[in-house]
Amino acid sequence: MQERTTFDVIIIGGSYAGLSAAMCLGRALRQVLVLDMGQPCNRQTPHSHNFLTQDGETPAAIAQKARAQVQAYSNVSFRNDAALQVTGQNRDFTVTTASGSILKASKLIFATGIRDLMPPIKGFSECWGISVLHCPYCHGYEVSGKEFGILANGEMAFELVKLLQNWSKKLTLLTKGPHTLTPEQERQLQHYQVAVEEKEVAEFVHDQGQLQQVTFQDGSTRKLTTVFARLPFEQHCPLPQALGCALAASGHLQVDAFQRTTVPGIYAAGDAISKLRGVSAAVAQGTAAGAFVNKDLIDERF
Ligand SMILES: Cc1cc2nc3c(=O)[nH]c(=O)nc-3n(C[C@H](O)[C@H](O)[C@H](O)COP(=O)(O)OP(=O)(O)OC[C@H]3O[C@@H](n4cnc5c(N)ncnc54)[C@H](O)[C@@H]3O)c2cc1C
Repeated sequence: MQERTTFDVIIIGGSYAGLSAAMCLGRALRQVLVLDMGQPCNRQTPHSHNFLTQDGETPAAIAQKARAQVQAYSNVSFRNDAALQVTGQNRDFTVTTASGSILKASKLIFATGIRDLMPPIKGFSECWGISVLHCPYCHGYEVSGKEFGILANGEMAFELVKLLQNWSKKLTLLTKGPHTLTPEQERQLQHYQVAVEEKEVAEFVHDQGQLQQVTFQDGSTRKLTTVFARLPFEQHCPLPQALGCALAASGHLQVDAFQRTTVPGIYAAGDAISKLRGVSAAVAQGTAAGAFVNKDLIDERF
């Protein structure tokens, strides 16, 4: 049988947000294709937390279960393929994939996430998601009470200290050079006995991603097994910007209350649009995107 090439909706990105949109649209009887290149941002994390019914599961197990449930809908198909190019406009988009397929859809949903930009510190990326953590709501409970390093400076560092002292009182700020805290912030950190380490960091020494110590450029070391870091990021997929979708000042895709980007017919969900970074938020936004796309399809044709 020939594979379908025309769909109501093509969802680009088939992790939590994309699969959630696919389930909603599948249940709305739409012809849906999900394209995914299998690089979710949390793939290195051994256990995912703070998502009801799946607490402590591996990220891959959650995605596999979601995919099996979505693929039970015969009107939803899933391809391990990357979207390389998109042309056209609302009601008539054409998507070209890495494998050479040319596919058409009335609407597009981008659930393509973000890409964290790792600092050039030896060992950092190997520890990311294992012992170097992005979010205390996802991973703070497991390490509560331990000494935390916080890789940040200035206002961001101060905000992270305030947040993280909820999980541990033993905090060391790693500012990678002279700190840029205000005198008042410095006074508060002293009050809460937060150590400030201004030396340049040379290496995160680790064993299979488990941090053992931080080595500074002057050769000195500090024993730390948990570090929190908030990294700069870029959109994982450049296509929405190439299509003219506006970015918010934060670097996320700008959407309205109905998950619509600034380009008609293109919607977005998940980390690509949201500062609230978590599987449950991505799933919720995916459902919303699916429902609002379906509503717009109904309104256009009724
Ligand atoms: C290290 C780490 C640990 C985390 N731990 C937790 C946790 O414990 N609990 C929790 O709730 N949250 C956690 N999060 C946050 C959570 O992982 C994200 O909020 C969630 O993955 C966002 O889902 P998403 O579908 O928007 O994006 P992603 O899961 O990042 O998926 C985006 C998908 O789009 C695909 N894609 C991108 N471009 C294209 C293209 N052109 N064509 C086809 N496919 C494409 C990618 O390959 C990827 O599969 C963690 C995040 C990180 C970074």
